[in-house]
Amino acid sequence: MKSILISGAGVAGPTLAYWLKAAGFQPTLVERAPALRSGGYAIDFWGLGYDIAERMGLIGQINTAGYHVRQLRIVDDAGGQRAGFTLHDNRTLFLFVFSAPGACLPAILDQQKAMLRDVYGRDGWECPHILDELDRIGELYFDRVSQVKMQNWSRGRVALIGDAAFCVSLLAGQGSALAMISAYVLAAELAAAHGQYELAFGRYERLLRGYIAARQRAAQRFAGAFAPKTRFGLSFRDLVVKAFAIPGLARLAIGADIADSVQLPEYSWPSLNQWAIA
Ligand SMILES: Cc1cc2nc3c(=O)[nH]c(=O)nc-3n(C[C@H](O)[C@H](O)[C@H](O)COP(=O)(O)OP(=O)(O)OC[C@H]3O[C@@H](n4cnc5c(N)ncnc54)[C@H](O)[C@@H]3O)c2cc1C
Repeated sequence: MKSILISGAGVAGPTLAYWLKAAGFQPTLVERAPALRSGGYAIDFWGLGYDIAERMGLIGQINTAGYHVRQLRIVDDAGGQRAGFTLHDNRTLFLFVFSAPGACLPAILDQQKAMLRDVYGRDGWECPHILDELDRIGELYFDRVSQVKMQNWSRGRVALIGDAAFCVSLLAGQGSALAMISAYVLAAELAAAHGQYELAFGRYERLLRGYIAARQRAAQRFAGAFAPKTRFGLSFRDLVVKAFAIPGLARLAIGADIADSVQLPEYSWPSLNQWAIA
């Protein structure tokens, strides 16, 4: 088996194509979107996924294209800072998250805007201005936070990676990194099994299942902090965020939830040096 079809050129697909090629396979990548997307959202990127990007020679481009966050602020109605801490430099990102259990997610842009107006229309701070700006935009990133839990990550000759296999949701802040890890491991196991895909799919899933399940549980624990349901919950969340300003405390408090608890085996990449991007 030499030719491999990859469906989806998001994060996982191109990573898989890269490492399959490094292992000597011939990947073909297909994407249903007609062009590169112009919209999107900022993502955190760290850990093992970052290490894999480094091995792909991408860190320079990531640093150039990326935003270097200087400060995280949680504000009240009047714009006063309830909690926050300083990170690195430049740019501001506003995040609006609300809890609406059981609500139907509107698919039409005007209905999405109407839902935002309904939820935030009576709020203070910059909300009225931001809602006014909604009238001038033709594209909105509007989504439900959900996870994907598949009983198996493969069937027959087909295997799933990244969000398609195990979306951890934005609450994990790590989906891209995990997509890259899964792509890397699948390519490596296919190479190690000399293309015997049943063997490779089994090893790939055994290596990552427990680790991904732990990441999904950590994301669920974090949901309460992202959109607290009560005033007490809000105050507690703010207190915790304030405490993160104390050096070392964040790592102590949530270090176990964000640490990569999987060790990747040493793999060999026979074709890597023949074609790798400098
Ligand atoms: C708001 C938000 C914030 C996030 N924040 C972070 C963060 O801070 N850090 C982080 O690491 N991750 C974050 N994530 C998660 C991260 O974006 C995903 O986990 C990551 O994009 C998954 O990569 P993927 O390649 O598996 O899927 P995707 O990036 O979704 O790529 C899948 C691709 O497949 C294509 N496709 C779908 N169906 C077909 C088909 N039938 N044929 C061909 N192509 C098809 C799609 O068009 C798409 O291009 C966030 C996600 C959201 C929504």
